[in-house]
Amino acid sequence: MIRVRFAPSPTGMFHVGGARSALFNWALAEQSGGRFVLRIEDTDAARNRPEWTEGIISALAWIGVNDDNPAFEGPYFQSSYEVQHREAAAKLIADGRAYYCTCTRDDVKARTGSEHKGYDGFCRERGLTEGAVRFRTPDEGVTVVEDLVRGTVEFPNGAMEDFVIARADGSPLFVLANVVDDIEMRITHVVRAEEHLSNTPKQQLLWQALGVAPPTWAHVPVIVNEKRQKLSKRRDKVALESYRDEGYLAEAMVNYLMLLGWGPGDDREIMPWSEMVPLFRLEDVNPSPAFFDEKKLRAFNGEYIRALPLAEFVARCDPWLAPEWDREVFARVAELAQTRIAVLSEITANVDFLFLDEPVFDQASWDKAMKNSAVEILTGYLARLETVAMDPESLKTALEEVGAEHGLKLGKAQAPVRVAVTGRTVGLPLFESIEALGRERSIERLRAALA
Ligand code: GLU
Repeated sequence: MIRVRFAPSPTGMFHVGGARSALFNWALAEQSGGRFVLRIEDTDAARNRPEWTEGIISALAWIGVNDDNPAFEGPYFQSSYEVQHREAAAKLIADGRAYYCTCTRDDVKARTGSEHKGYDGFCRERGLTEGAVRFRTPDEGVTVVEDLVRGTVEFPNGAMEDFVIARADGSPLFVLANVVDDIEMRITHVVRAEEHLSNTPKQQLLWQALGVAPPTWAHVPVIVNEKRQKLSKRRDKVALESYRDEGYLAEAMVNYLMLLGWGPGDDREIMPWSEMVPLFRLEDVNPSPAFFDEKKLRAFNGEYIRALPLAEFVARCDPWLAPEWDREVFARVAELAQTRIAVLSEITANVDFLFLDEPVFDQASWDKAMKNSAVEILTGYLARLETVAMDPESLKTALEEVGAEHGLKLGKAQAPVRVAVTGRTVGLPLFESIEALGRERSIERLRAALA
């Protein structure tokens, strides 16, 4: 049975790159009837915080990776496996595969004359019984990593120093803890970010030294921004949570993330998870950097929004509407809004005019719209509004006529009316908006604009 894992360190917001790795693993588990293990690598006590762990779990649940699905196992916490980590270090020492070392960085530098030469093996044969624990790497030959994404990657052993696997206090380093946990959890495929490729030869040696056949490796490509820089949390919007909070749909996010480095092999891009799962293959993942194109993600999201059944769209908008806003009034314009927004949070500005006592006021919009005979247009339309039939067609004809009286085309004549009624220069179609707002309130707003 395929057993994969996702092993985030809870040291910050949940990165979209992490989400992409999680989804690749999730697809493998699901398509094969295997298991997806969530392991929280919480051994860096100084940088971990419980809220980051909760954030990871809830963000994963949002994109559908949760224990509603029998493929999900965990979460396990690396910190609860410390005994196993210590036992593994002890076994490696007992087997002569690792040794204690008391050299400081300065000692090594004094002997090798450089900070960059790596450890010189000084303690290898000293038979110490305490200190940090170093793994004895082979001096010659190569370590060959077979990677499903990157192909065969060779690492010359001569360039691999005897690396530290446990500190002098016995606490394990990442390179060891990560392997011991993968062995403990019977992981068959390690699918993770490319930045870990440099750890892989060391980890493969550790698997072998611990007497277990190494897993299948797959290192998925880095994600870059439009300047081809690796996405970074200081520079780019990388937290999955921020996309969720802006009103991206989980389905759109999942679809988009899956395409960062992978594709179904035809030109299709918009594709539900259920159709991607059986087609996903690690061998088809492209090793070159994947561009995270926020504009494209937005476009995806807009498509997903438009594809929702209306009732579902209405339900999803709910968190972006103030609790006191009348949902029946909202329902009158929901369909118009559905085709116009790309993220759910945009719904608020599109419909707030229906619910606020006065529309929002923004000087720039006001100045932009209140020129070109605006006063005459508003005055003329105000008079018509008293008697015109309240349907979009009649409302439009009336404004066309008023515009014509002042030599203005409909587009120009609409601008002051739109700002007077909605407070904004763009939004839902104007005449449907006036219909939804009703005669009394529309008149009131035109009067207020003229006052
Ligand atoms: N905790 C590591 C990380 O978040 C996991 C690396 C791995 O997947 O092996 O980068």
